[in-house]
Amino acid sequence: MKRNLETLCVQAGYHPGNGEPRQIPIIQSTTFRYENADEMAKLFDLEANGYFYSRLQNPTCDAVAAKIAALEGGTAAMLTSSGQAASFFAVFNIAGMGDHVVSTTAIYGGTFNLFSVTMKRMGIEFTFVDPDCSDEELEAAFRPNTKAVFGETIANPALSVLDIERFAKAAHAHGVPLIVDNTFATPVNCRPIEWGADIVTHSTTKYIDGHGAALGGCIVDSGKFDWSKYPEKFPGLCTPDESYHGVTYVERFGMEGAFITKATAQLMRDFGAMQSPNNAFLTNLGLESLHVRMKKHCENAQAVAEYLQQHEKISWVRYCGLPTDLYYARAQKYLPNGSCGVISFGVRGGRKAAADFMGALQLAAIETHVADARTCCLHPAGTTHRQMSDAELEAAGVSADLVRLSCGLENVDDLITDIEQALARI
Ligand SMILES: *Cc1c(COP(=O)(O)O)cnc(C)c1O
Repeated sequence: MKRNLETLCVQAGYHPGNGEPRQIPIIQSTTFRYENADEMAKLFDLEANGYFYSRLQNPTCDAVAAKIAALEGGTAAMLTSSGQAASFFAVFNIAGMGDHVVSTTAIYGGTFNLFSVTMKRMGIEFTFVDPDCSDEELEAAFRPNTKAVFGETIANPALSVLDIERFAKAAHAHGVPLIVDNTFATPVNCRPIEWGADIVTHSTTKYIDGHGAALGGCIVDSGKFDWSKYPEKFPGLCTPDESYHGVTYVERFGMEGAFITKATAQLMRDFGAMQSPNNAFLTNLGLESLHVRMKKHCENAQAVAEYLQQHEKISWVRYCGLPTDLYYARAQKYLPNGSCGVISFGVRGGRKAAADFMGALQLAAIETHVADARTCCLHPAGTTHRQMSDAELEAAGVSADLVRLSCGLENVDDLITDIEQALARI
């Protein structure tokens, strides 16, 4: 039976039998016991389903991954230890030395570093395109050895909205999948697979956990990309894996299972970036209220953005829920029920005024984190980007006056009163 999103948030992924625990049990065990060696051998050959070692798979993690797969409308999913691990596995599962990937420039700073420095050292080239580039520029970014396209639904921290359909079309025209990091929108506000994305990734550390308690990531496969149409592009999925007893993933697991099975059997086995069952349990607690919390995050952010926009000490506001925002029309299409709780804005007076304003806030804490229950803020020019000059900041798309505010779940009048008193003091 088809269930609505709210029901999936609460109940998908785990279905206890008679007399079994109502809440997902935390299977705090590294290993699993078997009666005889043959049964264990079948697991190792991927001929039977089951658990043998929690570095590869754990029942608590699998139940939570299944819930996120249901929410995103995918066929298979896996949890990872962090969002960084999810981004890395999603790309590295299909791209290796000598390959090339197209990514938008509007991505998380950690992902940009992973791609442009660390994965480059592994022999993978990236071409970065503006998410609003012309069709010609996008077309020119592809090469014969391109293996994937990558972008973020709502970019952190740029807050631009990705034209998912357009990027999916371009990727598919070149026989490669579109990977979308859906961290800021969450499946509650956008399901990229419905718009043509093939693989979806998450930092569950943000809204999905939502309480700043558990680091984690997730990869979801739509099951819609036909790897077997391009065997020369994706040999890892379409030819026997000698490190796994000669299994050919697309043949054995089909379009709906090949990607995640390969990522589990090879990458999780070799890199071990597994989410702990304890963190998976916390991630699931977050999921149970995600639909309720996202609504409130968006309501609070909308009211705060509207307040900031009319204040004379604020020079500009970026929030795609504002009709004057550059991404308003696109957000109406992809994010009709709301976007996220993060706003960025400029304080008149530049670097010093922004820093003074933040120092005067009482409710909003200064943190590098975003997207949890407590309102927090960050002044990139004074912290994460403080080594840069004003001109260098401008070139990086981060102005010296920029404040990023992540609206939490507090009473919105209290948040606005706090901002009001802080602005009055500068
Ligand atoms: C935080 C973040 C990541 C990285 O996730 P971690 O869980 O911190 O490793 C990736 N993508 C986006 C959009 C993020 O906000």
